[in-house]
Amino acid sequence: MSKTNGVVTTPTSVDVLVVGAGFSGLRALHHLREKGYRTHLIEAGDDVGGTWYWNSYPGARVDIESLEYSYAFDDELQLEWEWPERYAAQSDVLRYLQHVADRFDLRRDISFGERVQSATYDEASATWLVTTDRGEQWRSRFFIPAVGFLSTPYVPDIQGRESFAGQLVHSARWPEGGIDFAGKRVAIIGTGSTGVQLIPQIAESAESLTVLQRSPMWVVPLQNTPMPEEYQTRIKARYPELRRRELDESFAGNLLVDFDLRSSETRSALEVSPEEREAEYDFRWTAGGLSLYTSFTDLIFNQEANDTLREYLERRIRQLIKDPTTADKLIPTDYPPLTKRLCCETGYYDAFNRDNVHLVDTKADPIAEITPTGVRLESGAVHDVDIIIFATGFDAATGSLKRLNITGPGGRTLDEHWADGARTHLGLMSDAFPNMFFLAGPLSPGGFFSPPLQSDYQVQLIARMLDRLAGEDAVAIEPEPAAVEDWMTQVDAVYNATLLPKAQSWWSGANIPGKPRQFLYYLGGFAAYRNACEQMFADEMRGYRRIGDHASAPAATSSAV
Ligand code: NAP
Repeated sequence: MSKTNGVVTTPTSVDVLVVGAGFSGLRALHHLREKGYRTHLIEAGDDVGGTWYWNSYPGARVDIESLEYSYAFDDELQLEWEWPERYAAQSDVLRYLQHVADRFDLRRDISFGERVQSATYDEASATWLVTTDRGEQWRSRFFIPAVGFLSTPYVPDIQGRESFAGQLVHSARWPEGGIDFAGKRVAIIGTGSTGVQLIPQIAESAESLTVLQRSPMWVVPLQNTPMPEEYQTRIKARYPELRRRELDESFAGNLLVDFDLRSSETRSALEVSPEEREAEYDFRWTAGGLSLYTSFTDLIFNQEANDTLREYLERRIRQLIKDPTTADKLIPTDYPPLTKRLCCETGYYDAFNRDNVHLVDTKADPIAEITPTGVRLESGAVHDVDIIIFATGFDAATGSLKRLNITGPGGRTLDEHWADGARTHLGLMSDAFPNMFFLAGPLSPGGFFSPPLQSDYQVQLIARMLDRLAGEDAVAIEPEPAAVEDWMTQVDAVYNATLLPKAQSWWSGANIPGKPRQFLYYLGGFAAYRNACEQMFADEMRGYRRIGDHASAPAATSSAV
């Protein structure tokens, strides 16, 4: 029962309930509604955007080119939309998603400013009962948490945090209206992709910026520019080819290098001469963004190949930093490049050449506590500041699902079921949780493939699965435990064949104390992933148990279900 203004109402029934209005959720609402499913979306923010709504800190922008980090499902949309920069700023991605919501009239089926408090599967009716913090209830046959893999901010539990008298902010909860750093003493904790983007922005106006760095990241130039008109027109003319090849050939969903489409490299770093290797690295460094990932085929598989990139990057970084001691601190020594996500910079290294920026190595001298006036380190050193920024990342992949309080058949919670790590088949569904589908979920290509493109494929696949289910007169579907375990084994096998186990990061849950260690994404590439999905579908949805129409099904009134 739902209580609105004191009036008790029955839950609102739909066929599909989606949570989250980011790239994935919006595409799900759009496609499933078009297919005839009564679909509603619940979003905690006051507007669309997902992670691009919440991460409004200065400097936030994409590191996959705008022309690729965008939806491909509608030709008119992708041809009409003009990107002002090669790599879109957060405000432009948000403007784009607002445009998508308006263009496809999505807002009429979205509840904004409402947070899901619980989602419980009702076996008798084979439906999900979802309750929100406004006391609203929804009953839906299918439940799609499209909550993103980087949406639950992680704030480390540092002693004394509550005592700080100044302003304390997490980068993913940036205050509306921004922060005026002029004349302020600022400390930032965290130097991942977010810190790398924020630091030069803060350095420009703050009186002083203390960078509390626990681990340096491998950081390369983004080489952002205003969008050259000729480039945008030329690439748009090749969109059919680009979009096809992003799915068929590319690892991360991007193919543009140095203002053109570029096929994947087929050479090993060890089979070319040192001069050829240097030329290739120079080319990619200058081309910018994530293009170094694909310089050679074996950089994430072979330590000796990877060492050539490490040596190159070290040299490049030293050229950019005036003080050799600061350069030493900024160069990672305990994990190979590319085994944590590469960070892309605009003015990051320059910031450390400024007099108002101080780099503190908190691995050598850890943070002991936050005091009312700043940060005290274990050595006793004190950094008094007015503002502390936590750029400390996210409880990735599973954190946002946890917050939904999901309970499956028999009262078993998702937390209990996933106590030793996430269990999904193809990143799409968990065993023991019927009719719940994930988008960019744990054990999908998730963090390794462009969200707009991945969600498009997954949403269409889910729609095909629902259609087939309806044709079979089944009311529910869930993967068999054996299919899930087989997929988990495949995810681990690919991961263990790479150098990635040498690094600790959010990719493996290592950034959150107490979180099960498990590699959270499928690394076999999107083409292999899609192939596995298509095989499953073609083989009568092999590995998926159907539950027959033993239940009354009040929500399933759409002709499509
Ligand atoms: P992150 O990569 O997880 O980095 C978190 C930072 O906080 C690390 O430097 C970490 O140090 C530090 N940290 C965490 N807990 C700490 C503690 N208790 N004490 C001291 N330091 C602590 O998070 P992120 O920078 O937000 O990036 C997450 C992901 O979001 C990226 O990898 C990327 O996929 C995405 N992102 C993308 C962009 C973009 O360019 N498009 C921008 C921002 C974010 P340790 O390394 O030592 O743990």
